[in-house]
Amino acid sequence: MTTPFGKVEETRLEIDLNALGHNYQYLKSKTKPGTKMMGVVKAFGYGSDAIEVAKELVTLGIDYFAVAYVAEGIALRDAGIETPILVLHPQPCNFETLIDRCLEPTLYSVRIFRSFVEVAEQKSQKNYPVHIKFNTGLNRLGFWETDADWVLEQLARATTLTVKSIFSHLAASEDPAEREFTLLQIQRFKAIAKSMMKRLGYETLLHQSNTSAIINYPEANFDMVRTGIGLYGYGNEEAEDKRLKPVVSLKSVISQIHKIEPNESVGYNRAYRAAALEQTATIPIGHADGLSRRLGNQKGHVIIQGKKAPIVGNVCMDMIMVNITHIACQEGDEVTIIGDNQSAVELAEAQGTISYELLTALSQRVKRVVGRKP
Ligand SMILES: *Cc1c(COP(=O)(O)O)cnc(C)c1O
Repeated sequence: MTTPFGKVEETRLEIDLNALGHNYQYLKSKTKPGTKMMGVVKAFGYGSDAIEVAKELVTLGIDYFAVAYVAEGIALRDAGIETPILVLHPQPCNFETLIDRCLEPTLYSVRIFRSFVEVAEQKSQKNYPVHIKFNTGLNRLGFWETDADWVLEQLARATTLTVKSIFSHLAASEDPAEREFTLLQIQRFKAIAKSMMKRLGYETLLHQSNTSAIINYPEANFDMVRTGIGLYGYGNEEAEDKRLKPVVSLKSVISQIHKIEPNESVGYNRAYRAAALEQTATIPIGHADGLSRRLGNQKGHVIIQGKKAPIVGNVCMDMIMVNITHIACQEGDEVTIIGDNQSAVELAEAQGTISYELLTALSQRVKRVVGRKP
């Protein structure tokens, strides 16, 4: 078995397809047999590599993909992905391209519905697959329950469209304190779906669950589940994080080591002052790579030789300096930012955010290396 994960010589994000496979099977095992899986690969596959992730998911048997925007769907089509792709949040200016590339729009409002029908008619479409989104309490995107009659009237007239699915999104499926509200959202969705299905006159898929709902609300799984963060190895709670495997690891190297005399400063604005004779290591990763400036001044740390090295001073655009006074290490040594000794959840917490934001902020400058870890 060859592995592309050799010696770390520059900053890189390692993407482990075996971990992805593990997570896919785990999440699938949580749903009833026959439930379809929609892999959410928006935002570059949650900061990993949407194309490599999508290709692997195709091999694993994924039924559907979801992206936020049309451009993300085009990137998948350009890479040869032929699986149906739902565009969660399209804009009318992209409807022509959306149709040309066989992407499937979410119709979430009267304005969006009307403009999509207009473009579909211009392009002489028949039964073009669309997805109708209802708002059940997130109050972000979607028709209201009271719009259902209008939608059905339009659908009865428009032979250009066929409804592939009816769906909704939960506001707090990861939060046990909001259980009652989540159950209310599920009830609302069931009622909408029932009345829509009866009057539509044909079968259509129903879906409402994201990752945390797959785990916490099996009754909301319906015909398909939409999973994002779980595929990448995070379950929004410690117990689930243990059952899942992180897909990405963020590694770097020590570029240079400095001896810092007492009272000397380190970095921009002289934000750090050495108390005694200290040593720092400079690492080639900064806020332009997605390492938040909030991690500066000892809020965050990296791992060198298995030990914690706190970030001293301000995070620069292209580098950080870390305190290695008590760590035996050399220039060229490997540095772990996200990996075995520090999860993305821990690093996210250190900067006051969630794994989703940390992962999707990892910039395209960071080299992606894709392979399989044993
Ligand atoms: C991003 C997104 C998802 C995925 O949610 P996870 O919590 O990452 O599983 C599902 N549905 C919609 C509508 C989304 O925007």
